[in-house]
Amino acid sequence: MSCLFCKIIDGSIPSTAVYQDDQCYAFADINPKAPVHVLIAPREHIVSLAEAGAHHPALLGHLLWAAARIARDKSLDKGYRVVINTGDHGGQTVDHLHVHLLGGRALTWPPG
Ligand code: AMP
Ligand code: ZN
Repeated sequence: MSCLFCKIIDGSIPSTAVYQDDQCYAFADINPKAPVHVLIAPREHIVSLAEAGAHHPALLGHLLWAAARIARDKSLDKGYRVVINTGDHGGQTVDHLHVHLLGGRALTWPPG
């Protein structure tokens, strides 16, 4: 398996774990765009949101729940943003579905 995030999830590439359970692994983004920048990835290799199947809604909901839990743990009381870049136009650079959790500063809108 050549997928970067699968290797991070199985521990063969090091990362800074933030949260993990049987369905997902969350870790610090190596190039943070905000004081808090965490990636939440399903343990299952799913290429992108566009490839999510009819059996995936519960897992997708779990990823959002994990993001909210991490945000609470990190006391992002003033708010935060969750983002799923999808495909070329969405700016996705790693082809393993992941949720970005960004917080710790006021974020601008819209993104570029
Ligand atoms: P995206 O562009 O939405 O696919 O997001 C990929 C994210 O993965 C980027 O924010 C990168 O900074 C991050 N990233 C790439 N390699 C690593 C790594 N080895 N450890 C942690 N984050 C990474
Ligand atoms: Zn993968």
